[in-house]
Amino acid sequence: MSDNEIPLARPLLGEAEERGVIEVLRSGRLSLGPLLGEFERRFAARIGAPYASAVSSGTAGLHLALRAVGVSDGDEVITSPFSFVASANVIVYERATPVFVDIDPRTLTIDPAAAAAAVGPRTSALLPVHIFGWPADVEALEQIGVPIVEDACEALGAQHADGVAVGARGHPAVFAFYANKQLTTGEGGMVTLGHESEKQRIDSERNQGRAPDMDWLDHDRLGFNYRLSELACAIGLAQLDRLDDMLAARTRVAAAYGEALAGIEGLELPCPDAGGCVRGWFVYTVSLPRGCDRDETIRGLRMRGVQSKPYLPAIHLMSYYRERFGHRPGEFPVCEDVAERSLALPFHPRLSEGDVAAVAQALTAVLARA
Ligand SMILES: *Cc1c(COP(=O)(O)O)cnc(C)c1O
Repeated sequence: MSDNEIPLARPLLGEAEERGVIEVLRSGRLSLGPLLGEFERRFAARIGAPYASAVSSGTAGLHLALRAVGVSDGDEVITSPFSFVASANVIVYERATPVFVDIDPRTLTIDPAAAAAAVGPRTSALLPVHIFGWPADVEALEQIGVPIVEDACEALGAQHADGVAVGARGHPAVFAFYANKQLTTGEGGMVTLGHESEKQRIDSERNQGRAPDMDWLDHDRLGFNYRLSELACAIGLAQLDRLDDMLAARTRVAAAYGEALAGIEGLELPCPDAGGCVRGWFVYTVSLPRGCDRDETIRGLRMRGVQSKPYLPAIHLMSYYRERFGHRPGEFPVCEDVAERSLALPFHPRLSEGDVAAVAQALTAVLARA
């Protein structure tokens, strides 16, 4: 990346994060200290969920959340093939099978009717993904009557049609804090929860299976090291203080893109908020016009100083999933069509109107040549 290229993503960090990290360093308490509980309580309150458990990544959170709802060997978990690969991988961690179903062409989230049709005797959970921050139709999925784990890793700030925040419906919902997410701790994640028993299980399993009232010598179940350090919690607390500003800035940048790109023939933009659903803006991903060469478009944008990337590839067509589960092209036509045409443009809270205009101008020029 050259210095004057417009980057895809960039975290917004400041003096509060620096001060928080230095205080932790000086305290000598680098893990399992006071900030862990504080970060969990403030995050849960922010979402409107009764409980939250902090973990070392979104992937770790999804893994523990699936275990908490009882997914195990030989089960099937119904999920979206249009996601970051982590949401399917965690199913395989528990020796269960991901059963993919196609997505809605407008929202790009799992189609509830397709999910209902895929339920079988071995189905033990549904794992909807709030992809690109759009709230998946969890209300409809609840009618199926199977435990739900929500992948909310891209959806901080999103809201369901009935006004409930994503993560506050009572199902385990997992947020991620990698550097490109709405809130970052470098690496990290958070599971919001409706039940204390789930929190106890996740808190134990993130810490090698230790029971809360036992000292470190005794472990009454299998566990992992999925702990989040105090350094990460300090960054997370400072990020929570600026979350409203960061989310508002993302919404502003998205609106600017919406205007700047509206005139490009054949280009499909992210669906606008509707029917009470509010997107928590994570990326700005467009679908290129049919027949357009995406690799050529990416090269053309790079020549004009604009980073972009295909986002996301279909999970079922990745080599591991083809070989392990025998997936083939054609199984999920909506997902495959979107995955072939989708392109993420630079998107972060400090992207200026000038940057948005430059990206729009570059994309217009590249597509006109194609
Ligand atoms: C980022 C992300 C994850 C995983 O989060 P990590 O913190 O990187 O482990 C899972 N699912 C989706 C949809 C994501 O975007």
